Amino acid sequence: MPENRCSTVWGIDSWTTGISGGMLRALDTLLDKSGLEDLFKPGEHVAIKISVGELGNIRYLRPVFIRAIVEKISELGGTPVIMDTVGMIGNTLRGPTDWFYTTSVNGYPGALLGKDVIPADGYTGEEGELLPIEGDELGGVEVARGIVEVAATVVVSHVTGHPFFGLNGALFNKGVGCSAQKGKWRIFNPLKPEVNSGQCNNCAVCVSLCPVKAISADNGAAKVDKSRCKGCNHYCVAFCPHEALSVQDGSQTRFQKRVVEAATAVNVAAMGRLFYLNFLLDIGKYPDYYTVGDQNVTPDLGILASRDPVAIDQASLDLINKAPGLISEKSQGYRLLATDSPKFNEIHGVDAAYPLKYAEEYGLGLRTYHLEMIGG
Ligand code: SF4
Ligand code: SF4
Repeated sequence: MPENRCSTVWGIDSWTTGISGGMLRALDTLLDKSGLEDLFKPGEHVAIKISVGELGNIRYLRPVFIRAIVEKISELGGTPVIMDTVGMIGNTLRGPTDWFYTTSVNGYPGALLGKDVIPADGYTGEEGELLPIEGDELGGVEVARGIVEVAATVVVSHVTGHPFFGLNGALFNKGVGCSAQKGKWRIFNPLKPEVNSGQCNNCAVCVSLCPVKAISADNGAAKVDKSRCKGCNHYCVAFCPHEALSVQDGSQTRFQKRVVEAATAVNVAAMGRLFYLNFLLDIGKYPDYYTVGDQNVTPDLGILASRDPVAIDQASLDLINKAPGLISEKSQGYRLLATDSPKFNEIHGVDAAYPLKYAEEYGLGLRTYHLEMIGG
C-alpha cells in the first residue's frame, strides 16, 4: 500500500493524438512512464495475468496488447509468462470447449504472442495454495500455483461491468482471476440462487444454461440442487426470462467482500510485487467470461496503469461514470445513460463503489488518486 494518502494512476486516452503510432505505441509509452521497470529484476519470471474470454464472447481484450506487454517485459530483462486460470467449472467438466480450445479460438496462440498462455491453476484448475487471510468472510483462499511461483505479476484487466461485483477490473481479476478452482467456489458460495416458484413458468432456460447440471425443472417450478451448484451465477440468474431466480438479501455484499479478501491473499502470495493495467475499451455490461453478445456501455476511455488496485479501479469507475452511456436490451431497444451517473449501479442494481470502500478499509489501496495523463 502506498505510504502517502494519494496513489498515482497513469493513463492514456483512447484518442492518443499526441502519440504517433496509435494505441500500441501509446501503450508502450504508458509502460515506460508508469514504473513497470521497478516491478522486477532482470532474469525474474513475471506473470502477465490475462483473461482469454469465454467462447462466443467477442469483446475480450485484443491479443496484440498482450504481445506488446510481453515485448516490454522482455526488453526490460524479465521473463514474461502469460497466464490465466481455467475457471470455476474446470476443463474436465467443460469437455470439448475446454480452456485450451477457447484460448486458441480466441486468438491467443503462442505464434502470435511469442509465448503460450499457460493455466496458472493447472489443467484441472486444482493447483492452488491455500493462503490464510483475515477478514469477515473467507479465512483463506486457494491462490493459483502459477501466481504463487513467479517473482512478480502484471494484472491485465479488460474493464466491464459485473452483475454482482459492480466493476470488473483490477480487484476482480486479482481476487477471482488469480484464484484456483476451489478458491473460486469459496468466493462465489454466497451466490447460490433461490427460485421464486410463483414467478417460474417452467421454461427450463436455466436448466439448459447451468454448466454443472444443478437445476431441474421436471415437474412444476425449477429446483436448484445446492450440493451441485457452485454459485457461479453466470447464466441462471442473469438470464432467467421471468426473473424467478435471485440470491438472498446480503449475499451480494458477502460476495463483494470475498473477492476483496481473496485479492489480499494474492498480495500475500506475490509479496506486493503487482502492477495493474486496466483497459477501458469495449466496456460492456458483462465480463469477458460471459458468453453474451453484449453492446458497449460507454465510448472507449483509454488505458490506465498503477501499482494500486483500488486507485486504478476507482479511476476506472470515475471515468465510466463521467462518460455518456448507452444501454441496449433486445426487448426494450436503446436507452441513454446520463453523464455523471453510476452506470453499473443503474444497469445491474449493484453498489459498484462498495468493494472499493471495503478494499480501502482492508488496506489494499487508496481510493484517492492523482491521474497523470500521458500524451494528449
Ligand atoms: S429460467 Fe426462470 S422461469 Fe425458466 S425454469 Fe428457470 S427459473 Fe423457471
Ligand atoms: S449458480 Fe446457477 S448456473 Fe451456476 S452452478 Fe448454480 S444453478 Fe448452475
